[in-house]
Amino acid sequence: MSGLLWFVVFLLGTLVLAYQRVSLLVSTFVYGLGLLVFIWTTGTTNIVILTLLWLGLAVLVLLNINTLRIRLISRPFLRTYRRMLPSMSQTEKDALEAGTVWWDGQLFSGGPDWDKLMAATAPRLSAEEQAFLDGPCEELCRITDDWDVTHRRGDLPPHIWDYLRSKGFFAMIIPKKYGGLEFSAYAHSCVLVKLSSRSGVLASTVAVPNSLGPAELLLHYGTESQKTYYLPRLARGEEIPCFALTGPRAGSDAASIPDTGVITKGMYEGREIVGVTLNFSKRYITLAPVATVIGLAFKLLDPQRLLGGERTEYGITCALIPRHTPGVTIGRRHFPLNVPFQNGPIQGKDVFVPLDFIIGGTAMAGQGWRMLVEQLSVGRCISLPSSTTGAAKAAVFATSAYARIRRQFNVSIGQFEGVSEVMARMAGRSYIMDAARSVTAGAIDGGEKPSVPSAMLKYHLTEMARTVASDAMDVHGGKGICLGPRNYLGRAYQIVPVAITVEGANILTRSLIIFGQGAIRCHPFVLREMNAARDKDKQRGLKEFDAALFGHIGFTISNAVRSLVMALTLARFSRVPQSSTQRYFQHINRFSASFAFATDVAMLSLGGYLKKKESLSARLGDVLSNMYLASMVLKHYDNQGSQQDDLPLVEWACRSLLYQAQEQLHTFLRNFPNRFLAAFMRFFIFPRGQTYHAPSDPLGQHVVDSIFYNSQTRDRLTLGVYRTVEAGNPLGLLQEALVLADAAEPLEKRVRVEGVKTGRVTALDLPGQIQQALKAGILSETEAAVLRDYDRRVLDLINVDDFAPEEMAAVTLPAEVRSARVSSG
Ligand SMILES: Cc1cc2nc3c(=O)[nH]c(=O)nc-3n(C[C@H](O)[C@H](O)[C@H](O)COP(=O)(O)OP(=O)(O)OC[C@H]3O[C@@H](n4cnc5c(N)ncnc54)[C@H](O)[C@@H]3O)c2cc1C
Repeated sequence: MSGLLWFVVFLLGTLVLAYQRVSLLVSTFVYGLGLLVFIWTTGTTNIVILTLLWLGLAVLVLLNINTLRIRLISRPFLRTYRRMLPSMSQTEKDALEAGTVWWDGQLFSGGPDWDKLMAATAPRLSAEEQAFLDGPCEELCRITDDWDVTHRRGDLPPHIWDYLRSKGFFAMIIPKKYGGLEFSAYAHSCVLVKLSSRSGVLASTVAVPNSLGPAELLLHYGTESQKTYYLPRLARGEEIPCFALTGPRAGSDAASIPDTGVITKGMYEGREIVGVTLNFSKRYITLAPVATVIGLAFKLLDPQRLLGGERTEYGITCALIPRHTPGVTIGRRHFPLNVPFQNGPIQGKDVFVPLDFIIGGTAMAGQGWRMLVEQLSVGRCISLPSSTTGAAKAAVFATSAYARIRRQFNVSIGQFEGVSEVMARMAGRSYIMDAARSVTAGAIDGGEKPSVPSAMLKYHLTEMARTVASDAMDVHGGKGICLGPRNYLGRAYQIVPVAITVEGANILTRSLIIFGQGAIRCHPFVLREMNAARDKDKQRGLKEFDAALFGHIGFTISNAVRSLVMALTLARFSRVPQSSTQRYFQHINRFSASFAFATDVAMLSLGGYLKKKESLSARLGDVLSNMYLASMVLKHYDNQGSQQDDLPLVEWACRSLLYQAQEQLHTFLRNFPNRFLAAFMRFFIFPRGQTYHAPSDPLGQHVVDSIFYNSQTRDRLTLGVYRTVEAGNPLGLLQEALVLADAAEPLEKRVRVEGVKTGRVTALDLPGQIQQALKAGILSETEAAVLRDYDRRVLDLINVDDFAPEEMAAVTLPAEVRSARVSSG
C-alpha cells in the first residue's frame, strides 16, 4: 500500500473509533495493532514516521495509566478549573438540582437513544377523565359567555364560580383521599386546552390553583395537620388560593424579595406565642382579589434566635395566611390587558401569625426557594403550554373555516397563496405545540419532572401562540379587530402577553434559563466535574474529576467527528427507528452532535463568561429547544398511530424546527467572539455550508389542504376545541358552515359560470343572483334553498358587532352621570 493509502486508512480508522465512541483502552489496542501491521506490511525504516507513530502509541499508553494521568494532567488542570469555576449561591444550586433530566439529556449526548423515547407509552385519558371532559368541561364551556365576562362584568359570574368549585375544577392535582380529582398531567392539560378554546379568563382561573401554589406545596411539604385541614377545603372550593411571590422590587429576580417575616413573640387569639411578624408588598397576584388563603413567600429572620438555632437569617420561606388576618390588605384589582381574570396586589403590615402557618412548619424554614423551584417544572410544563395550545388550536380551527367561507375576488381567501402560507404556519406551529404539550405531559405521568423542557415549553409555546394569534388576526382582517360577542379572536390575542410575562418572563427564560440550566444539568460531564471540583474530600474529588475530565475529552472529540461525518453525509447512515419520518430522526442526530460539540467548545473557551453572553447561550438554547420540539413531533405522530394524512404537518413542523436549529447554530458561529475557534467549529459543523432547507411552498399547500376541508387530520389537530354547534359558539357555527360549503361551493360556481359570465344573471349580490339563477333554470328549487341557507349562515358569521355610543363604556354609568356628561360635552 502506498503512503497515501495508509494515511487514508489511519484517518478512517480514527474517525470510526471516535464516531463509535470506542473507549481509550480499546482505541490504544487498535492503534498498537494497526502500527504493527503497518510496520510488518510496509517494512518502513523511515525514522521520522516511525518516531511519530511510536510516540503516538506511547502517549496513548501513558493516558491509560490512571496515576500518571492524574499527576501530569488532571491535577494541574483541576487547580486552574477551581479558579475558573464561578461561585454559586444556594439559590442557584437549588434551581440547578430541581426536577429531572429527561429527553433533554439525550439531546445533549450527541447521540440520542431513540428507542427510549419511542418506547414511552402514549398519554391516554382514563374513562373518568374522559367523562369529565365530555361532561363538566363541556357544560362549563357552554355556560360561559366570554363577552359578558370580559366586557360587561369584568369577572366570571357567580354561577360559574359555583360550578368551578362544585365540580372540582380547582382540585385536579389534589389526591382523591383529600376529596380531589387526582387527574393525570395529561388530563389536566386536556382540560386547560378545552377551557382556553372558549375563554382565556376561564383557563387562567382554573390553571392557577392547579399549578404552583398552596395545594402543590402542601402536598409535597405540608405537615399532616396542614394537609388534612387545607386540602379537603381546597378540593371542595371552600378555600380559593393564590400564591404571592412577586413584588414591586422583585420581578424576574424573584429570589431578591425584600418582604420579611421576623420571629417574635406576640398575641394571637388571646395568648402570647412565638410567631412571625410579616411585612410585605406583593403585586400581580392571580386570584388575590378573591382568594381566601394566600401562599406567601418572604425572607425569614430570627434576630433573637427564638427558634433555638444559631442562625438569624433563614432565607425564603413560604406560609399560608388566611385572607382576614389583621394587617392584610387585599381585594383591589389589576386590569390585565382587557382580559380581566382576578389579579391584584396584596400588602401586609405587621401581620402576626403562628409558626405553624409556615408550610411544613419550622422544619421547612428557609426552604421556600428550593420548594418553589422543585415544584415549578411540573406546573410550568402544563398550565401555559396547555392554555396556549388550546388557544392556538381554536385559532386554527376558526381561521381555516373562516378562510374557506369568506370570499373576496370570487375566491375563498384561503385559496390565495399569501393567505395559505400564513395558514400553513399556523397549522404547523399548532401541531408542534400540541405534540410538545401532550408528549411532555405523558412523560410527567411516567414519573418525570422535566425541568429544562418546562422552560423550553414555556418559552417556545407561548411565543408560537403569539405568532398564531397574530396570524389569525391577519387572516380575519376587520372581523378579528372589532370586539363584541361575535369576535372569537380578540381576547385570545390580547391575553398573549400575559403568557409571555408570567412564570419566568420570556426574554429571561430564553437568555438565561434554557441553555444555562441545560448545559450544567443535562450535560453528561459538566455537573460531575463541578461537583468533583467542589468535593471537600480532595482525593476523592481528584479521582472523580479525572474520570469526568477524560470522559468529557473523549465525548467532545467524538461529537466533533460525528458532527463532521453526519454533516458530510447529511446523516444518511445514522442509525434511527425505521419509519416514513426517519430522515428527521437522522437530522436530529446530526444537529445533536453539532450542538454538543459547539456547547463544549463554548464552555471550554468562555467558561463562566458564557453566562454573561446571553445572546450566545440563547441561540444554543434555541438549537436545543428546536431539537426537543422536533423529537416531540415525531413521537406524537407515532403516538397517534402514524396517520399518513398527517405527514404534511409532521414534515412542515420538523423542517421548520430543524431549519431554525441550523440557522441558530450558524448565527451562534457568526457571533462567537474567538474567530479562530468559530472557524474551527464551522469546519466540523458546516463543512458543506447550510444544507438544510425551510418548508417549501408546495409542502405548505399540502398542510393547508389537510385542514381546509372537513377531514380527520383537521379533527386530530384541533382535538379538544369546544366546537359544539349552538347559538353563541362561533367555532361550532364555523365548522357547520365549513361542512355545508362542500355542497354550496359547486352551486355558487355554477351560478357564476352559467349565469353571471353569460349575462343571464345580473344581480350584484348573492341572494339576487340565486333568485335569477332559479328563474333561468340554472338552479333547482332545492339547490337554491341550499345556497340561500348557506349564504345566510356565512353572512351571519362574517358580520361584526356594533354598539350604541353609550354601550361602549365598559362600566355602565348611572343615567344622571351620562346625561350630565352629554350636556356638558
Ligand atoms: C397577569 C400576571 C399574573 C401574574 N401572576 C402572578 C402570581 O400569581 N404570583 C406571583 O408571584 N407573580 C405573578 N406574576 C408576576 C410575574 O411572574 C412577573 O411579572 C414576572 O416574574 C416578571 O417580572 P416583572 O413583570 O417585574 O418584569 P421584570 O423583572 O422587570 O423584567 C422586565 C424584562 O426584563 C427581562 N429580564 C429581566 N432579567 C433578565 C435577565 N437576566 N436577562 C434577560 N432578560 C431579563 C424580562 O424577561 C422582562 O422582559 C404575574 C404577572 C402578571 C403580569
